[in-house]
Amino acid sequence: MKFDLEHPTQRQLHDGVICGLIAESILIPILVTVTLVGHHPIRWGYIGAAVACIFVSVVYLALFVAVTKGKSNLHTQANVWFVIVCLAISGLAFIELATSTDYGLYMPAMLVGVVFVCIIGDRRMQVVIDLYAITLIAMISWVEGLRGADLATTVVVYASTIAAITLICARTVGSLTGHVNFRQAIDALNETFDRIGLGGTGTGSDTFQEIFRCGLPLVTDILPAERVAVFIRNGALGRFSVVATWPAHHGDVSGLSRLPALTEALVYNSVTLDSSHCVIPVGYSSDGELVMVVERSPGDGRVDQRSTEAAELLASAFLRVTSRANFVDGLHVESRTDPLTGLANRRSLFERIEVEMAHALRSETPLSVAMIDLDHFKEYNDRFGHVAGDTVLRSIAAVMVSNIRGQDMVARYGGEEFCLVMPDTDLVGGHHLLDKLRSGGRDATSDFGVTLSAGLTSWDGIEETTSFIERADQALYRAKESGRDRVVSIQAFTEF
Ligand code: GH3
Ligand code: MG
Ligand code: MG
Repeated sequence: MKFDLEHPTQRQLHDGVICGLIAESILIPILVTVTLVGHHPIRWGYIGAAVACIFVSVVYLALFVAVTKGKSNLHTQANVWFVIVCLAISGLAFIELATSTDYGLYMPAMLVGVVFVCIIGDRRMQVVIDLYAITLIAMISWVEGLRGADLATTVVVYASTIAAITLICARTVGSLTGHVNFRQAIDALNETFDRIGLGGTGTGSDTFQEIFRCGLPLVTDILPAERVAVFIRNGALGRFSVVATWPAHHGDVSGLSRLPALTEALVYNSVTLDSSHCVIPVGYSSDGELVMVVERSPGDGRVDQRSTEAAELLASAFLRVTSRANFVDGLHVESRTDPLTGLANRRSLFERIEVEMAHALRSETPLSVAMIDLDHFKEYNDRFGHVAGDTVLRSIAAVMVSNIRGQDMVARYGGEEFCLVMPDTDLVGGHHLLDKLRSGGRDATSDFGVTLSAGLTSWDGIEETTSFIERADQALYRAKESGRDRVVSIQAFTEF
């Protein structure tokens, strides 16, 4: 629920009407009481009305606080105003009681609804409540026996007072709450973003999905929107593809992706705002540049200072969170990658082996690992230098990456040792792949013909990662011992 006087929306109108009806449902019994009771009992009628008013408003507020769990938000804020106004009318009722003039409660009673709607409603709602109040006053005056010029004077006096109150309240308290709500909406968006990805377990694309899943519904609280879509521009093709939409299943948004403003916003790296759309660059992910399109609500297409500020605040909130996601993602990748070869490091190797063990158990498939070591590499370094040695390590890594299957993983275990994880692969299959790597490695280092030795083994289905790797290492040792440039495998003690 949103009470923004400057930017009324359909939803706001709906909420305003509901709140107005709640306020009036409390006022009408007061008016009925005042109208029905005679001159003397009026005093008790006033007291009864005042007590009922306080009681209902306090119960109403208590319920609201219970529902919102005591958290101060837009709902509770509006409702606090409601209670204050109800208590004010009760105060007026007691003043009336002291001065004891007939029908004196009508005016303050009317003003409750008027003031309340000024605070929380939009312009249409204000007009409706003002006309309603003036009509009631005219009717009551008629029942009182006023006719002709007296009736006209009464109505004009009340109508002008109500109009003046509406104007003053709407300009002061109304826009103040609108401003407060706007700030609250921005804060809510930033707080939501602060909570995203703190666990650090998700991958980069998961984090981006989470950002847009949580962030897009809040956009409309800042810039009233019919729908919001985020697109990614693929650098090479220059084409936009959709990343997220709000509402989640809002059909086809491809029309939005063809707006010329998308490219314009990215080229100039700035927000573009017109009466129908607002286009906001929101950073980049590893797949390309991100841009958000807000399709603005009909009747809310103003291009003024306020909506420009809203668009810019949205841009900075989204930019902040996407750059943080990229930074965290970068750290995550860095902590799991070997800087020289770009291969997985030992840490991600161990994690991966555990994942593959679980998979092997579930699917009852074999799992093999191989330790690979470059032969006489020290000699190579001594002859050609360490820089040339590094180049060899990089080319061997590239050969391995291009020869393994998607489900395999090769990691740099240390120095010039690599570890290859081969799910769904037995010793025969592993041997075959390692032979391919050996000849690939030799070809890639043709000036010297660096050869590889490998020790291969498969998992027995129960042992720990360390003993699994140790056996592969043992096999590697045997390969070295028996003359290098070969693959030696050791079978697990218990067959899996
Ligand atoms: P072997 O056939 O028995 O494996 O002989 P080797 O010379 O390869 O012996 P070992 O595996 O013990 O030697 C490792 C050598 O690898 C030592 C070091 O010079 C080299 N090395 C380890 N890490 C790096 C690296 O990051 N860059 C370079 N250029 N050389 C490295
Ligand atoms: Mg070696
Ligand atoms: Mg070694």
